[in-house]
Amino acid sequence: MINKNSGISRSTILGYPRLGAERQLKKATEAYWAHKITAEDLLQVARQLRLDRWAEQRQAGLDELPSNDFSLYDQMLDAAWMLGAIPDRHRGHAGLDRYFAMARGTDEAEPLEMTKWFDTNYHYLVPELGPDTEFRLDPTKPLAEFDEALRAGYLTRPVIIGPVSFLLLSKPAWEGGDFQPLELLDRLVPLYAELLSRLAERGVEWVQVDEPCLVTNQPDSVLQQVDSVYRLLAAVRQRPKIIIASYFGRLGAALPVLAGTPIDGLALDLTGAGAANLDDLERLGGLPGRRLIAGVIDGRNIWAADLPRTFESAQRAARLAGEVAVAASCSLLHVPLDVTRDSGLAASYPGWFSFARQKLSEIVILARGLNEGAAAIAAELGASTDARQARLNSPLVVNPAVRRRAAAVGAADLDRGSGYPERRDEQRAQLGLPDVPTTTIGSFPQTRGLRRARAKLRCGELSPAAYDEVMRDEVRSVITEQEHLGLDVLVHGEPERNDMVQYFAEQLDGYVATEQGWVQSYGTRYVRPPILLGDVSRPAPMTVEWARFAQSLTDRPVKGMLTGPVTMLAWSFVRDDQPPAETARQVALALRDEVTDLEAAGIKIIQVDEPALRETLPLRAADRAEYLRWAVESFRLTVGGVANRTQIHTHMCYAEFGDVLDAIIAMDADVISLEAARSKMAIVADLAAAGYPNEVGPGVWDIHSPRVPDTDEIVDHLRTALAAFGDRVWANPDCGLKTRGYPEARSSLANLVAAAEQVRQDS
Ligand code: GLN
Ligand code: ZN
Repeated sequence: MINKNSGISRSTILGYPRLGAERQLKKATEAYWAHKITAEDLLQVARQLRLDRWAEQRQAGLDELPSNDFSLYDQMLDAAWMLGAIPDRHRGHAGLDRYFAMARGTDEAEPLEMTKWFDTNYHYLVPELGPDTEFRLDPTKPLAEFDEALRAGYLTRPVIIGPVSFLLLSKPAWEGGDFQPLELLDRLVPLYAELLSRLAERGVEWVQVDEPCLVTNQPDSVLQQVDSVYRLLAAVRQRPKIIIASYFGRLGAALPVLAGTPIDGLALDLTGAGAANLDDLERLGGLPGRRLIAGVIDGRNIWAADLPRTFESAQRAARLAGEVAVAASCSLLHVPLDVTRDSGLAASYPGWFSFARQKLSEIVILARGLNEGAAAIAAELGASTDARQARLNSPLVVNPAVRRRAAAVGAADLDRGSGYPERRDEQRAQLGLPDVPTTTIGSFPQTRGLRRARAKLRCGELSPAAYDEVMRDEVRSVITEQEHLGLDVLVHGEPERNDMVQYFAEQLDGYVATEQGWVQSYGTRYVRPPILLGDVSRPAPMTVEWARFAQSLTDRPVKGMLTGPVTMLAWSFVRDDQPPAETARQVALALRDEVTDLEAAGIKIIQVDEPALRETLPLRAADRAEYLRWAVESFRLTVGGVANRTQIHTHMCYAEFGDVLDAIIAMDADVISLEAARSKMAIVADLAAAGYPNEVGPGVWDIHSPRVPDTDEIVDHLRTALAAFGDRVWANPDCGLKTRGYPEARSSLANLVAAAEQVRQDS
């Protein structure tokens, strides 16, 4: 059953970061948008970047390089382009301008919608398909990039998104009707067949067809379609060998289906939950005579691999297939480029981290071990173990006091003591708010002045004290602004926060920030997620002075504003040496101290934002209950220490909440504000159906657009909410205002206050 690995083992990756060490791609793309350089200039930068990436991978010793994993904006947009799925509204432009119109929109035409790429922080553009979409193959990009590499001396493996995932990740071009993009599969498959022939003609030996959707639960009907599609494609007469690539977890029921088709190989994620793929494959009898790309190196996190352990997985994988290639579990798009560019990180934490370039070396070492025997890499294996031991025992990681405190958490710590009805009475007595209280989500517009002050602080042109004074001035003006508008519950406006996670990460022990650790979030937007590396604690209060200052300026209640534990994990790189539930508990305890201090400082309302709660929901249904358990627990631990009279708010956005409503109820916040305007208040009916028992502020103004909602529209929205929730309704926007300008923020908030006043007259 198990066959011996006969071929030599190779080293490869499924994809590589595109941004360039100096973020060249962003700079050139934005310069092109600003008409400062020509299309040809931009394409030249892109060409050079691709050549540099291949050279870098080859220099690291990688045998087999991918191509077409580069993109000027996004790989799904490239796929829509390749298949001719261009919405009519973007056809007014041609060439690059059409491409960027689809990505970013124009004055006349909305862009494609953007959404999260599985459970990563990368966002892709969602192709729009309808019953009359006419696909047309344009294979220029994959062919040109393959040729370009070949001319430079690299025989690459083009990466193409597979037809099933392409359709599953697309959306119906208009709402209403029950059209599903997957209905177009029969129409799409001939284009893929033609593409395979065209690739073969050019001399492509292997093509990588990505089907990441198969790691999510799919009904049997879809798996049957997968089976027939890949039988059809395998039967194409002149074609390259096909690797079907999966990533982000376990294939489960899709594994026997894929292995049962006559394709030439599979790429599997063998890390984390994906490790089970290896057991599953073993039970199936392996892939005799075929190829396995073994994703043993974690492609999504930044830790140096535990090489002896990953080597074991690689050896097991090698015994299961005719030929094995060592790889990372997914494209390296999701990690920063090179840890050595962060001088501080590399020096303070020797051997702890592995970014994309370092992962190449790890892959090459493991492949060498397979080919030459473990003895040949003994030194590397030993060094890896030593570095890992040093990390896990480092005082930067281990804080016994934090661990003791986390271990002592009991049920009582998660409990406010009284139920919502009692708390509500005490809160109403203390706060004295009108019906349908008005408030905002926290941030006020981040003006040019604020950004300039931050830049000046960074380059030393502004002293920290002078910077603080600029921020204090801003808080003063934000408070005056809100009093003027007549809002009931005020905020300080968050001017001092660069980012809602980074701001806290910088102040907590156990976190480290990077200088150069850029990761693409979407298009030319890159983020630098902080790294959770050790036990978390709060050396000093983080927000208390700002809240106290803001409260001192007004008689109205000012809401304290914190980022919740789930979001603090979701937008960071997390530890690989303890479960996320444990890390979340530590973060929650640190935040709990902040909540206690805010309450002691006279802050009567505290909001703990959890915008990421829904977005890190595990891909597999079976894993969700455990995630939601610790997510709810960490929220309750954060806020469980306050008195009944202190009102706890939470806020969530970026998602449909249908599958987390029970968790939202279990969080037991006194008030929740939710994104709602874009989905036309559909959330109100969902919450009512679920019996949401506490107070709720469904966002009545979509802050993602500069459009000012008029009073009547807000009144309508509020009446919808009032009909469902009676005296438990708040009036607030969808989300924070930091990306908005003052003119529209002012007008919209004035209308919001007027609308609340109007509905108060209703009864
Ligand atoms: N309090 C944050 C703000 O207002 C919330 C941001 C968010 O939900 N993403 O900006
Ligand atoms: Zn929000």
